[in-house]
Amino acid sequence: MNTSLESVKNYVLLGPPGSGKSTQATKLKEALSLSHVDVGSELRKLAESETDLGKRIHEVINIKKELVSDGLIGCVVEHVIKGIESDRGVLIDGAPRRISQVDEVEAALASHGRKIARVIFLDLSLEEAVKRISIRFLCLSCKKPFIKKEEMSFTCDQCGGEIGQRQDDTPEGVAKRYEVFMSETRPVIEYFEEQRILLRIDARLLPDEIFDILMKKIA
Ligand code: AMP
Repeated sequence: MNTSLESVKNYVLLGPPGSGKSTQATKLKEALSLSHVDVGSELRKLAESETDLGKRIHEVINIKKELVSDGLIGCVVEHVIKGIESDRGVLIDGAPRRISQVDEVEAALASHGRKIARVIFLDLSLEEAVKRISIRFLCLSCKKPFIKKEEMSFTCDQCGGEIGQRQDDTPEGVAKRYEVFMSETRPVIEYFEEQRILLRIDARLLPDEIFDILMKKIA
């Protein structure tokens, strides 16, 4: 590995639904010039395609609300990382979410001379997650996020598309994904804690407060 690659820092961002991963990812990406690898959004894109793979992914993420297979995660991460300039750090948002994915993700990074510098964990209770997700809307065309207000337009001010919710953002969907997070992803958090690279943050703090902590601790 050359010196420039060793100095490039790569991060993993984990947290239950509604913990604010996307908000922090956007801020970190801008502040640290990182490339954002949004695994959930890559999978949702694949799930919209009319291919066999797309239909299978749709079934797992939108109907069953479970995790997709580990091999697919390794492929998605590797595929996205491949296109990123080697002098730019990456922020992997949403993987590994299962202990058996740790090797997949580390191998995908290692194949491009990268390793994980820090793992950020945004910690949130189920109650708070359900409360936050119930007001989370987005433009179904351009994906611009919206927070539900009393008087809200049903068309996007950016592209005129219809505003709605993610298919897995129902209260039951959040509860199921939270349960999956606690059973499948908690061991991943514990693993990185043992490796002493975990940064646990209380996701009830305001977005700017969280961001300030992150900038002090990881930049
Ligand atoms: P997210 O946008 O992060 O909430 O992810 C949406 C959905 O994609 C999740 O509920 C899972 O079904 C799937 N997914 C995202 N990341 C992973 C992962 N690392 N492993 C397996 N499934 C995932």
